[in-house]
Amino acid sequence: MPNLHDDQLSMSLEDDWPDIRDAVAKVCVRFDNDYWMKLDHESEYPTEFVDALTEGGYLASLIPEEYGGTGLPISAAGAILETIHKSGCNAGACHAQMYTMGTLLRHGSEEQKQRYLPAIASGELRLQAFGVTEPTTGSDTTQLKTRAVWEGNQYVVNGQKVWTSRALQSDLMLLLARTSPADQVKRRSDGISVFIVDLREAVGKGVEIRKLDAMINHNTTEVFIDNLKVPPENLIGDEGKGFRYILDGMNAERILIASEALGDAKYFIRRACEYANERVVFGAPIGKNQGVQFPIARAYAETVAAELMTKKAAALFEHERNCGAEANMAKLLASEAAWHAGDSCMQTFGGFGFAREYGIERKWRECRLFQTAPISTNMILAYIAQHVLGLPRSY
Ligand SMILES: Cc1cc2nc3c(=O)[nH]c(=O)nc-3n(C[C@H](O)[C@H](O)[C@H](O)COP(=O)(O)OP(=O)(O)OC[C@H]3O[C@@H](n4cnc5c(N)ncnc54)[C@H](O)[C@@H]3O)c2cc1C
Repeated sequence: MPNLHDDQLSMSLEDDWPDIRDAVAKVCVRFDNDYWMKLDHESEYPTEFVDALTEGGYLASLIPEEYGGTGLPISAAGAILETIHKSGCNAGACHAQMYTMGTLLRHGSEEQKQRYLPAIASGELRLQAFGVTEPTTGSDTTQLKTRAVWEGNQYVVNGQKVWTSRALQSDLMLLLARTSPADQVKRRSDGISVFIVDLREAVGKGVEIRKLDAMINHNTTEVFIDNLKVPPENLIGDEGKGFRYILDGMNAERILIASEALGDAKYFIRRACEYANERVVFGAPIGKNQGVQFPIARAYAETVAAELMTKKAAALFEHERNCGAEANMAKLLASEAAWHAGDSCMQTFGGFGFAREYGIERKWRECRLFQTAPISTNMILAYIAQHVLGLPRSY
């Protein structure tokens, strides 16, 4: 047996955090397909579900104990999100309450952390909106147009954000805005800052939020910002370094989103196998046909491989090692495994896959998002090509 060196790390090959998985699964049982189907139909927010997770302390899992959270590692947060999705529920309404605070935790002042984190941990304050994407600049984040200009003793912000999810269910929103014009900075990522916007005060006084009608019930919005006044104490970290701060948080987000996608993949595979064993056509269960079995088996193999990559990314993250490539690959592989599992499940259910009461078509629509947000597949491939394979930057 070789000695383990300091630079080697170990990771569990089993399902880690079994107690947490069991406890979250028990919460999820209370929120069945009828619950989600009704919300989907009415485009409403899953308040009772989010309250139950808040009461269980699950949304505070990444907040250190000294600020009122449970201070768990990222693998535990991943286990929570995976279990929610594996149970047929959707964490999209509240997952950002877990990790948006990371920017504040890593780069905020002690005063800001004391002011916000304990109330975020208890659920009294909701920080689950992050305004990054803009209608005209999309994935080219450094070209964002929202401007924050220092005037007298405060910043005055003007601009527009799109796809800002959960802004209508947030007390606070993180906002990315340019504080130095793009043509006056050395690198295009310089001159961008992150602010905490208190939506309780800002709505009607410089901020207007409009619900966006989308393919899935993701509570997403457009945010219009017109002469919004932001006091200097709401700037996070140093002015002009905001882009770097959000990059710091992206690996965690990729790992957590990969965990949700794995949960969806497992949900689809379980449902597909159950149905394939039950449904009898031409005198035999449809699962007896290789044409039905093989897509499910392939999706299972992809899911297990994606899970290994997600575990590796989480283990590197927890050891404070560079995990950019692994976190990106985990999100890429898990999002595709979920999509293939969803497609095989839809196909296995035949016409009933389209019937809303089975829940498959809702999950199928929901899991498509992972290939587009928080970052689209092409951007991940561009990262791997450039940063891992040493190919020329393509954009
Ligand atoms: C339901 C939902 C919720 C969201 N929530 C949030 C949120 O809370 N906060 C937030 O800030 N944003 C959010 N987003 C936005 C999301 O992050 C973006 O949609 C995503 O990053 C892609 O940006 P875009 O839509 O502008 O696409 P674009 O940047 O216009 O890209 C369109 C397509 O072109 C491809 N493409 C673009 N440039 C290149 C290139 N150089 N090489 C190869 N391919 C390229 C992209 O990969 C993509 O497939 C959400 C989106 C959705 C749909």
